[in-house]
Amino acid sequence: DSKKAHNFIESLIKDEISSGKHAGKVVTRFPPEPNGYLHIGHAKSICLNFGIAETFQGECNLRFDDTNPEKESQEYIDAIREDVQWLGYEWAGDIRFASDYFDAIYDFAEELIEKGKAYVCSLNAEQMAEYRGSLTEPGRNSPDRDRPIEDNLQLFRDMRAGKYANGELVLRAKIDMASPNINLRDPILYRIRYADHHQTGDKWCIYPMYDFTHPISDAMEGITHSLCTLEFEDHRPLYDWVLDNITPPARPRQTEFARLNLNYTITSKRKLKRLVDEGVVEGWNDPRMPTVSGMRRRGYTPESIRAFCDMIGVNKAGGTVDVGMLEFAIREDLNARAPRAMCVMRPLKVTLTNYPEDQAETLTLPVHPQNEAMGTREVPWTRTLYIDREDFVEEPPRKWKRLAPDQAVRLRGGYVMTCREVVRDSEGNIVELKCEYDPNTLGVNPEGYKPNGVIHWVSASDSVEVDINLYDRLFNHESPDSDKEGDFLDHLNPDSLVRLTGARVEKSLAQPRNDLPYQFEREGYFFLDAGASEPGRPVFNRTVTLRDSWAK
Ligand code: ATP
Ligand code: MG
Ligand code: MG
Repeated sequence: DSKKAHNFIESLIKDEISSGKHAGKVVTRFPPEPNGYLHIGHAKSICLNFGIAETFQGECNLRFDDTNPEKESQEYIDAIREDVQWLGYEWAGDIRFASDYFDAIYDFAEELIEKGKAYVCSLNAEQMAEYRGSLTEPGRNSPDRDRPIEDNLQLFRDMRAGKYANGELVLRAKIDMASPNINLRDPILYRIRYADHHQTGDKWCIYPMYDFTHPISDAMEGITHSLCTLEFEDHRPLYDWVLDNITPPARPRQTEFARLNLNYTITSKRKLKRLVDEGVVEGWNDPRMPTVSGMRRRGYTPESIRAFCDMIGVNKAGGTVDVGMLEFAIREDLNARAPRAMCVMRPLKVTLTNYPEDQAETLTLPVHPQNEAMGTREVPWTRTLYIDREDFVEEPPRKWKRLAPDQAVRLRGGYVMTCREVVRDSEGNIVELKCEYDPNTLGVNPEGYKPNGVIHWVSASDSVEVDINLYDRLFNHESPDSDKEGDFLDHLNPDSLVRLTGARVEKSLAQPRNDLPYQFEREGYFFLDAGASEPGRPVFNRTVTLRDSWAK
C-alpha cells in the first residue's frame, strides 16, 4: 500500500495486517460515559476511532460506558448521539451500552471467583487505601484474601441480592499486592450502589468498575482495537489480566494515544459541568463552550472540526495545541464556503442629499466573490443608509482609510460618496452624516479624485434589524486550570460576550440560512442562533473574527 498512514495507530494496524498478526475486520468503538456533553477532546477520539474504521473498511461502535448511574442521564445520551451524528459519523448497528452486558459481566465475575481469582473484601475505603501501599511501599494482603471460594460466591450473591449496604463489601481481583503497578494491587471489580440506573432501573444494586467492564464490553462486541488515552496505559496490564483470566468471546487489544489539550480551553467534563452548574455560561451548548454542541451553535462546521483533528494528528506524546489552530480551521472552511453579506454593527445614519427621496434601486452583488456558482444577492440602495460609527471620524489620523469630513469612500458594491456635513443632537452626539453620492461611480472609478477606501453599509429604510453576540475566548489565561491553588474560574475573560442590539443586516438576510455562517464583510463570520431568534428578529453569533486578533 503506497498511501501514507494518517497516524501511528493506522501504521501499526497496517503492519499487523501485512505481518498476519491481524486478520479479518477492524472493529473500533467510541465509548463515552454519559455524564456530560462531548467536547473537542472527544472529537479527536471520534475522528480517530471512526477514521480507523473507515480506512480499513471496518466498523466503529458507539457504546455508552454507563457504570456510574448517579452521574449519568438520558439528556447526556441524547446529546452525545446527536453530536456524533452531526460530526458526520455512522456507528455500526444499534447504539450499545456497557449495561447491556451487566449479566455477562456478572457471570464473568463468578467465573473469576470460582477460579480463585477474585474475593469479597470487607475493608472499608480508608483501610483499603492504607492496605494498598504506595509507589514506594508494597501493599498488604487483605485479611479476606484467602476466604474460601464457596464463601466468596455466597457473599457475592448476597451482595447482588441486596443483603448488604452501600460500601459494606466489594469484590476484588486477586492479583498481586506487591505489584509495582498499583492498578494490579487487587483492584475492585464490583461495588454496592443502591442507585437507579437510566437503562437497567433498579435491577442491580451492585455495579462493575470501569476497569472490569471495559475489556469485557470490548470483547463482547468483537472490538479488535481498543483505543484510549494515555492515562490508561497503566491500566493496560489489568485490561489484559481480565481477558486472560476469563473465557472471553474475543481478544481485543488496547492501544493508547495522547489526549488533546488546547490552550485557553478547559477540556474536562467535570470542570465544564461546573461552568454550567454555576451559571457562568448559559448551558452546555453556550457558544463559548468547547463542547461539540457549543461549537455547533457558534457556527463551527463538522468539516472544520474534522480538518482540525486531521491537522493535529494522533501521537503518543502529549502536549498542548494552540487554540489558534482550531480558529484557523474554521476560518479556512468559511472563507471558502460562507456566503457574504453586509451587517452594520453600530449604525450611523447617512443621508444622500442629492439622491431623490422617492427613488431606490437594486444592486446585484455576488454571494461569494471567488465562487460564481454561489449566485448573486440583491441589495437595495436608497437615499438613507447606515454605515458603522467606527468608519467615520471627524479628525482622521494619517493614512485613514475610511470616511471623514469632505473625504470620499466607496460603499462596497455601490457608489462613491463624499461627506459634506455632520449633524449632532442637542448633547453634541453625532447622529447623522449628510453626504453627496457620485452617480457616475457604480463599478467605475470617479474622475478627478480618489476615494479613501471601501466601507460596508446597508439601506436604512430597507434592511433588517438584528442582535449580535460577539463571542470571544472564555478564558484569558493560556492554561486556565494550571495553577494548583487557584481556581480556573479566576481566569474568565470578562469580554467573552459582548451583546449588540439594533445592528442592521442587508435585506437578503430577512430569512437567514441556518446551515452555514455568513461572512459579514470586514467583521467576521456570523451564524444564525435559531433558538434565540424571534420571527423577524434574527440573532447572530460571531463564530470567529476574520483574522487572529490574539496573535502574539
Ligand atoms: P473527561 O475527563 O472530559 O470526563 P473522559 O475521558 O472521562 O473525559 P469519556 O466519556 O470517558 O470522557 O471519553 C470517551 C472517550 O473520549 C474516551 O475514549 C476518552 O479517552 C476520549 N477522550 C476524552 N477526552 C479526550 C481528550 N481530551 N482527547 C482525546 N480523547 C479524549
Ligand atoms: Mg472516561
Ligand atoms: Mg471522566
